[in-house]
This record gives sequence, structure tokens and C-alpha cells, in this order.
Amino acid sequence: MIVRCIEKECSCVMEVERQGVPYYCPKCCGKMEEVVEEQLTAMDWCQLGIFLSENEKEEEALSCFLKSAKEGEPWGICNLGWCYETGTGVEQDERQAVWLYKQAAELSYMPAYCNLGWCYEHGIGVAVDMELAVEAYKKAAEDDFARGQRLLAICYAYGNGTEQNEEMAFLLMEDAAHNGDLDAIYYLGTFYWNGIGTEVNYKRAVQIFKQLIEEMEDPDALFYLGYAYGNGTGAERDDEISFSYYKRSALAGELTAKNNLADDYYLGRGTEKNIEEAIFWYEESAEDGNDDACCTIGRFYEEGIGVAMEPERAADYYEKACKSKTENKGLECYLRMAFCYYTGFGREREEKKAEELLRMGFSLLEGQERVTKEILRRRNQFVCEGTIKTLVSKLLSFCNDSDLREKLEEIQKYF
Ligand SMILES: [Zn+2]
Repeated sequence: MIVRCIEKECSCVMEVERQGVPYYCPKCCGKMEEVVEEQLTAMDWCQLGIFLSENEKEEEALSCFLKSAKEGEPWGICNLGWCYETGTGVEQDERQAVWLYKQAAELSYMPAYCNLGWCYEHGIGVAVDMELAVEAYKKAAEDDFARGQRLLAICYAYGNGTEQNEEMAFLLMEDAAHNGDLDAIYYLGTFYWNGIGTEVNYKRAVQIFKQLIEEMEDPDALFYLGYAYGNGTGAERDDEISFSYYKRSALAGELTAKNNLADDYYLGRGTEKNIEEAIFWYEESAEDGNDDACCTIGRFYEEGIGVAMEPERAADYYEKACKSKTENKGLECYLRMAFCYYTGFGREREEKKAEELLRMGFSLLEGQERVTKEILRRRNQFVCEGTIKTLVSKLLSFCNDSDLREKLEEIQKYF
């Protein structure tokens, strides 16, 4: 049977199985009364559809949205579009989804403008067209709709489909955050952290990330907090607090946090030393494609640290790192993989391949500044203490190419 909350302010509608029991609204704790289908408004049908889709009754949910849409309710039309976009209760049909979003948008339904913009941005059911995406987001943003403000802010921040305008991006993101959009709160934190449309302000960023994690276990915000406390950036350095944030972030799935948590366990930084936990989290992070974690766990298998020595497995990890597409990928995996090919460690010896890998690695580092940054980044991590220096001098003893030797010698100077 269908029950509806009697509180006018609340809009809860649910389907329940048993009869004759008083039901209390899960949203407002008000009383719920039984209703027959004829009593349901177009909005009620939407509420019921959402309840059913959350309870994995996809086809029933679809028919509720359809009933709502037939009465011209834009919320119902938009949700029906979402069913077509995602293939919920109906065969996926992205073009049909776009058509429905357009109908709902014409009825001035702001979420539909956002969905439509998203389709244009990602080429869902239509060709990618960033300008039309921006136009759609603008409609929603002008109506003070938070998701539209956030999506438009991102376009301004990176100059997607419009001229780059960081100040505008910042103001819009602030509005979206004030309007309660949780993703916008996260972005606002990163804007303060990176100085996008505002002065860099780590303290303010830390405050904002803390505000966000009170609402949700956001893996990226937790990572920033771990970093802030671990490095004394925007907060007073505290390894224990850093460890606890990294752990929460890692548990929420953030791959760099997994690597940094493993470092903490390995070093006993902010926690007790625990090599098993360290290995577990390096492997988790490596599994997600984090190149630093691949290099570290690979080296553990290369040298038999906490695990049995396994040359092939070590080389597999280095290779995985070379192929990974993570942002700011480092040089180390190429050096390590080149070493495997020069010496036949875990792989057949192949000098050409080794040189090719070194070239690929060096091509990542454009200009002196990047080289320095890269070297310092890894040198500051425990795992590099001495090991890269040794690695580079070993590579120099195998490498005959003068251009590559020159670059290797340059790196050697930093250690
Ligand atoms: Zn209620």
C-alpha cells in the first residue's frame, strides 16, 4: 500500500508492505496516512518513484515518473530523462534522455538545464558542444540554482566553452557553496588552496575542508587535511592528526592517501610501525594506479623488504606505474623499469627498451623547474633515501647514450 506524510511541509510518499500499522515518516517523524493512487499528485508520483528507485524497484519507479510526466510535471519529465540516460527500468536511450531534459528545461526546471548541460559537455545523446553546455549551466546559475553555479564555475575556472575567468569562477563557487552544494564546498576549498580567483589561503582552505567533512566523508577533502597536518600547511604540523585523516581518506578510496598512509605505517609516523599494514596499503594504492606506491612496493619485491623477493613481480609493478595515467606522474618508475631491462631483472635484457624508457621518463620533465620539483618531491619521501642515488649511478654504468647520460648525471647532483 502507498502511504503519504500528513505534514504539509514534508512531501514523503512511500510504498509499504504491511497493513494496519501506524507509519511514521522517515523524514520528519510525522504521521503517515494510507492513500489510494487517485489521490496522488504529480509531485507525489515523483516522490514515490524516487523511493522505489532507491529500493531497486526500477521498472515500478519508471512507471511512477511516467505518470508524473504525463501530467506535465517537469520534475517527473526530468526524472524520466534520467531513467533513459542511465537505463533505469527501461532500455538506455541517451537521445530520448536529452529530448526529455529539453522539455523539462522549457518548463524552467533548473535541474533539467544542468542535466542538459552535462549531456552537451560529455557528448551524451548529443555531440559534445561546450558552448551549449555553458549556456545551459548559465540558465540554472542565473536562477541561483547551486549545481548550475558550480558547473558553470568550473567552466570559468578552466576556460571550458567560455573565456577563462577565475574571479567569476570563485564568486560563482562561493554562491553554490552558500546554497549548500557539497561538491561546491570542496571546490571552494581547492580554490583557496591553489589561489584560483582569490589569494592562496591554506588556513581558509583547511577550515572549508573541515566544514565539508562534517557533512560527508569526502575522500579528497580528507586527503587535503592529511596533507595540511602532515606538512604544516594551513595547520600546525601534527603527524597523528595527519595519519587519522589519511586513514579516513584511504578508507574512502583516495589513492594517494592510501600511499601516504602506507608511508606512515612503514615509518611509524603518527602511528606505530606496522609493515603488514604498510604493504597492504601500498598494494591497494598500486592497484588503483598510484605510481609512487607501485615504485615502493615494487622495490619491496625487488629487495625482499617485508615480502619474499620476486623479480618478476617487482618489474610488473614498475611497468604498471609506467603505464599509469595518474596526474603528476613521476620519473622514478621509468628509471626502475629501465634498470630491469638493462640488467635482465624480472625481464629479458633489452638495452633498446631501457633507453626508450629513460627517454619517456625524461620527456615528462619539461624544463629545469619541473626536474627540481620532481626530485625534491621524491627525495622528501623516505622511500628514496639513498635508493634513487644508487639507482641512478647503476643506470650510468649501463647507459652508453651520451644525451641520456647527461640527464642522469644532472639528476645525480640533487642527491
Ligand atoms: Zn514527513
